[in-house]
Amino acid sequence: MPGLFNEHFHSQVSVMAGSVPSLPLELFMLYEVPPLGDRPPDPRLIYLQTMLGAVEMLRHGVTSVHDDAFHNPWPTRKAIDAVMSAYRDSGLRATVAINRQNRPELEKLPFLAELLPPDIRGEMEAIRIAPLDELTDLYHWFHKTWHGAADGRLLIAVSNSAPQRVTEEYFGFLADLSRGHDLPFNMHMLETKTQRVLGIERFGKSLVRLVKDLGFLDERMLVIHAVWVDDADMDLLAAAGCTVAHNPICNLRLGSGIMPFRELRERGITIGIGTDERAADDEVNSWAALKQAGLVHQIGQPDYALWPTPAELLHAATSGGARGMRIGNLGRIATGCLADIILIDPDSLPFTPLNDLRRQLVYSHNGSAVVMTMVAGKVVMRDGRVLGVDERALRAELRVRQPEIDAAVAVTARQAARLEPYWRAMYLRAAAMDVGFTRWVGNGR
Ligand SMILES: [Zn+2]
Repeated sequence: MPGLFNEHFHSQVSVMAGSVPSLPLELFMLYEVPPLGDRPPDPRLIYLQTMLGAVEMLRHGVTSVHDDAFHNPWPTRKAIDAVMSAYRDSGLRATVAINRQNRPELEKLPFLAELLPPDIRGEMEAIRIAPLDELTDLYHWFHKTWHGAADGRLLIAVSNSAPQRVTEEYFGFLADLSRGHDLPFNMHMLETKTQRVLGIERFGKSLVRLVKDLGFLDERMLVIHAVWVDDADMDLLAAAGCTVAHNPICNLRLGSGIMPFRELRERGITIGIGTDERAADDEVNSWAALKQAGLVHQIGQPDYALWPTPAELLHAATSGGARGMRIGNLGRIATGCLADIILIDPDSLPFTPLNDLRRQLVYSHNGSAVVMTMVAGKVVMRDGRVLGVDERALRAELRVRQPEIDAAVAVTARQAARLEPYWRAMYLRAAAMDVGFTRWVGNGR
């Protein structure tokens, strides 16, 4: 069958699997991406963790990744080279963006400016923001250096992280770059209720409407999450031809809510399946996300005729991913398509006995029966071994770095614990607001 896609991923926190407790996104990010971080990224560690994610994907038969790579606290050319070199060396197909923000911390979240004590407020206001020419120079360099590398296996995308996190000027630059070179545009949109509330509080409208009014909403956009979208937002996304990246496990891990799968599909919106990062899914396995997508939409929707079917989920995990990466001849096996193909052994536990292939691919198979992964006509994984990567050495080198990783996580956790009471107050205030609908189930209002 065609290889699976991982439609949304952040390579830069792959060493953090299991290191952060389950928390709502805004609080989770405090423990994961410290706003007050000041150590420049280490290219070797970036290479190792990008490779770690790539190996996990190839072993499971994931042939393409859409990596919205952020670099904490800021990207450097060496750090970006490290990401791209790891993908080049691994054999995986990758479309990679530089996820960078240029708005002050306090503007990205509701109520915080009034909740914070003066000392922390001062520290937040003192965080350096990169000037526009630094941001644009880096993107021009990235495009020139890496777009189409490794015989076209590596491509670049643009990213603003999320519309509320960048200035209109930088947003416009990225939109021009995306349109000028037909590059996918990664954008997290309405992942959480707090973001829905921010849109109302700061802009007086939904963030989807904001992007539309700015003139930037188009078919190149990969809208990541789309959980707290309302009917009007979904109509706008459909009219513009956007693709949505669905990350059901991450949405559950962070308690974000449930994406309106059928409502998006009924409007003709293409959906791709992603794991999101290895800190908020904790594995990089599109099969697991696929199964979760096959289950979670059955709660809160009593009409079983509207539940996702195995055929449409498999389509989302293959062709849907190709659409989001804007590669037309990918995601299916056909004459003229790129040969990204996987072999699955039917003589394996998930398929014994073989009752219904599609249903068992979605509900029985966790990736363990993939015996061969081919990318661009080249076998890159066979019988559980990624060829050309010394996986044992990779794991050993990461183990050596463990004390350093532990120390960084501990420093971040100390900072986060100091900030958490204010973030919690913000989160609870947003959670209690009536936005006219809900994406939570059970007792969530
Ligand atoms: Zn993300």
